[in-house]
Amino acid sequence: STVVKSDLDIALESEMKKIDEIATTLQLEDDEIEYYGKYKAKLSLSILDRLHTKPDGKLILVTSINPTPAGEGKSTVTVGLAQAFHQIGKKAIVALREPSLGPTMGVKGGATGGGYSQVVPMDDINLHFTGDIHAITTANNALAALLDNHIQQGNELQIDPRKITWKRVVDLNDRALRKIVIGLGGPTQGVPREDGFDITVASEIMAVLCLASSLDDLKVRLKRIVVAYTIHNEPVTVGDLGVEGALTLLLRDAIKPNLVQTLEHTPAIIHGGPFANIAHGCNSVIATKMAAKLGDYVITEAGFGADLGGEKFLNIKTRAANLSPNAVVIVATIRALKMHGGVNKAELKSENVQALTDGICNLEKHIDTINQFNVPVVVAINKFLTDTENEVNFIKEWCKERGVEVVLTEVWEKGGLGGIELAETISRLVEEPAKPFEYIYDLEDSIEDKIIKIAQKVYGAKDVQFSAKAIKQMNDFENYGWSNLPICMAKTQYSLSDQPKLLGRPEGFTIEIRELKASIGAGFIVALTGNVLTMPGLPKEPVALNMDVDSKGNAIGLF
Ligand code: ADP
Repeated sequence: STVVKSDLDIALESEMKKIDEIATTLQLEDDEIEYYGKYKAKLSLSILDRLHTKPDGKLILVTSINPTPAGEGKSTVTVGLAQAFHQIGKKAIVALREPSLGPTMGVKGGATGGGYSQVVPMDDINLHFTGDIHAITTANNALAALLDNHIQQGNELQIDPRKITWKRVVDLNDRALRKIVIGLGGPTQGVPREDGFDITVASEIMAVLCLASSLDDLKVRLKRIVVAYTIHNEPVTVGDLGVEGALTLLLRDAIKPNLVQTLEHTPAIIHGGPFANIAHGCNSVIATKMAAKLGDYVITEAGFGADLGGEKFLNIKTRAANLSPNAVVIVATIRALKMHGGVNKAELKSENVQALTDGICNLEKHIDTINQFNVPVVVAINKFLTDTENEVNFIKEWCKERGVEVVLTEVWEKGGLGGIELAETISRLVEEPAKPFEYIYDLEDSIEDKIIKIAQKVYGAKDVQFSAKAIKQMNDFENYGWSNLPICMAKTQYSLSDQPKLLGRPEGFTIEIRELKASIGAGFIVALTGNVLTMPGLPKEPVALNMDVDSKGNAIGLF
């Protein structure tokens, strides 16, 4: 049998170019690059000013079917596709999110692609990288400390300690911190109240950083963040506390995108990393815009499936950034579709065309969703070594019968050379006359109608049930003048519904909206469905058990 090398082994064996060589291929000027060691750099926001009048490159969004424990390889295909464009002589840049340590140490391992389609230095990127996520944690917790201090020092704003919505964060999966009590110990130790931690990638500051278009816009957004309500039920903002300046200062480096490279030296911009199940799931607007100025093709990814990251990219990020994608790639694997067809993980290696026939409905729904936005779609089958010819042919036929573009990609095994047909298909599609981009809902729709439209058009739900709390919040939010914001759904990634176990394409289900959260700085209303958690927990055998470092400082056991 063939020995399969680990992602980390492949990454460590690769020969990286110094990051200034990569910057040279982008024709960057000396003062536009800040080096973080030999292989990482931050890019100055002045690049956007210099290239202000240059037309944008084509934007290609990579999304997927609902993820399963079988793995879909969305990042792998995103990186591989950029490498493939590079192979056919086109100037492509990949724009990705920064990995969060929570899942890296928990179940998922890294988030830097896999096989021969990775971004490097993968160990750095998966660990502390250039410190952006730490800066966000610090800004978030500085705000929490300043808020508690305001109450301690007399509470001039009349904040109701029971109505504080701002939580503390840490970038780890730490379930024990979900609900805590702070301020115990008497009058000099603060005012006792119930509090809790979210994971950093769910912090509104992460979303704000990712949606800001400049340092000034970052400050404006931070100022708008609502942290609590007063005893008279009026919202209290960061501006009321007067700390937007301090928070912006803490983020002045974090707002600059990070430049790294792929295994084949394609430039990669990695910046910002909100999860797509509990946050909006896309890398920063600044990174995408900069990539579009520096490259002819930008390949970017949105987290989890087309029902989550994909939908939010298309309804939230495009509005905030004034961008629209020229094509969407939906990544599917034969293994995952067989799981959607009812096969369990242990039996995925044997050929099972019947299970594929039963599970392909999941892919069908996501194609339907992207079609509603009027953007050209390509299905990319991410080939695993266990896939059989009959299975591959089945999907190809299924797509062809429906007039859907489909390409088999082998970028995990072969790098860019395994994705040439995909890159060529996309270059052809983006040159065809574009249809007008369509949103799934209008901003003028009520909060309720926007949520119902997402649930019905994107998830295929029958209806939506709002809790008494959510109904009261919708009324309050309308009174505060917040009803014209887009919606950020918080939902399980595993199912089109809010029930993680309902695979395939469930029908006739109801989406339950438990609670809403106002992210006024980011500029959206979060709708929490089912039991989705904003602080994940660790599994029984976390990936961290395999992690180590040798005496020279080399990483061991990162995926
Ligand atoms: P996603 O972005 O969908 O979470 P990743 O691209 O991060 O998925 O891949 C998850 C894991 O699956 C990685 O360890 C990667 O090496 C592995 N993987 C991806 N594609 C393949 C493939 N075609 N064959 C084998 N392993 C793969």
